Amino acid sequence: MKSRRPLIAGNWKMNGLRQDGLALARGVAAKLANEGAPSCDLLVCPPATLISDVSGALAGTAVAVGGQDCHAAPSGAHTGDVSAPMLADLGCGYVIVGHSERRTDHGETDEAVRAKAVAAHKAGLIAIVCIGETEAERDQGRTIEVVAGQFHGSLPEGATAVDTVIAYEPVWAIGTGRTPTVADVAEVHAMIRREARTRMGDEAGKLRILYGGSMKPSNARELIAIDDVDGGLIGGASLKVEDFWAIAQSCP
Ligand code: PEP
Repeated sequence: MKSRRPLIAGNWKMNGLRQDGLALARGVAAKLANEGAPSCDLLVCPPATLISDVSGALAGTAVAVGGQDCHAAPSGAHTGDVSAPMLADLGCGYVIVGHSERRTDHGETDEAVRAKAVAAHKAGLIAIVCIGETEAERDQGRTIEVVAGQFHGSLPEGATAVDTVIAYEPVWAIGTGRTPTVADVAEVHAMIRREARTRMGDEAGKLRILYGGSMKPSNARELIAIDDVDGGLIGGASLKVEDFWAIAQSCP
């Protein structure tokens, strides 16, 4: 039995109109009500347009709601962006920062990701900081160096196991159906925990480090069973109630 309670987080990405989001949220809430709580914390991160509705639908349940990104500033002239206090205002408890799709599509650097995590903390949100190597970096044997660099570059000074979650997501495993071996995941997660000790001392023992990248019902159990894996960040499979629930039930 691990001392850290796993977190199963669904990243819905840019999917769903209001009725889809509501159906998904209500479906997860119904599972919880009918089948009882799994041995993990549950989180869904809908697109910004659905947060208000989903937050309302999940009010009073044990399913937390989070954003998929936030701006580093609390307000101002940033057309199209959403700030951390705005997410908190809608009932969010978490926000994902530095997802590889943001790093790639929007050129987000470690420094930008760190600023977003700082903004999340100031707004009282738990920041889920995403890090992970590309396929080319893995092929060059640079996985450990790249992931360690992103970890230190993206983690705010003074981050704690209470206000921060790390998500290790190999870029080449996201949405591809491919996953690293159990040994590879174990090696990277153990390294992240070691690096976390240099930043937060013993507190690192409490830090949740999620795995993300093509996690699904058929592989969740063996991935979540790995020593330093404390749950998952789930994209595609979080869009189906049955799959998301089956992954949650894979937690020991
Ligand atoms: C993600 O987007 O964070 C993710 C892990 O996606 P998928 O589960 O679809 O690979």
